[in-house]
Amino acid sequence: MNPIDAPGTDEEEWRAWDGLEALPPLNSYRWNSVVVIAAHPDDEVLGVGGLMALLADRGARLRLIAVTDGEASHPDPGIAERRVAESATALKHIGAVETVRLGLPDSAVRDEDLLRLLPELVDGFDACLAPWDKDAHPDHEAVGRVAAACDTEVWHFPIWTWHWARPADLRVPWDRAVQVPLPSPVSERKQAAIDCFTSQFEDPDPILPPGVLAHFTRGREVLFDARP
Ligand SMILES: [Zn+2]
Repeated sequence: MNPIDAPGTDEEEWRAWDGLEALPPLNSYRWNSVVVIAAHPDDEVLGVGGLMALLADRGARLRLIAVTDGEASHPDPGIAERRVAESATALKHIGAVETVRLGLPDSAVRDEDLLRLLPELVDGFDACLAPWDKDAHPDHEAVGRVAAACDTEVWHFPIWTWHWARPADLRVPWDRAVQVPLPSPVSERKQAAIDCFTSQFEDPDPILPPGVLAHFTRGREVLFDARP
């Protein structure tokens, strides 16, 4: 079974583990401009919405590269438009973010298309944040893989990892992980942003059930150095 579809780790288990709060802090103070790459509308907020808010508050230039419009989550023909709008509304809680949409096919993102499009859009930014290339979702992995080859500092953020991995999991590169502690007001803005993605949690059989969403309400975000 796909690890994303299998029952996952309870957020209580992650919170009971002291490994996350023991991670060294990310030093993002040297960044004046940051590109965040989302495979689907919501990856950016779930993975690094708090860090984006902190950077926006400091006046850093933020660019979101939205790789797909997330049309594969539901058969509804209006779903892409809805998800793009959800992301735009969510980002209002985060701060000033310029968005570039690539419109690549959801669940069929190809490395060669990303290799053609990403380098130019990342060029000149101090850092690039992208989904982890071992996150178990093929789009996340393609984006993470190609981002890692971009010519800047690159950090990966996990999404589905919190669901399929366990505390101290040997499949996770804890030795190159850092944390971003989120002050309460920033956590609240992240939560307000997450609440905008209603298409992903309002169904009877949601893509993001409460047990998965719970992973993104903790007071810290975690990133992996893509090129240690
Ligand atoms: Zn995603």
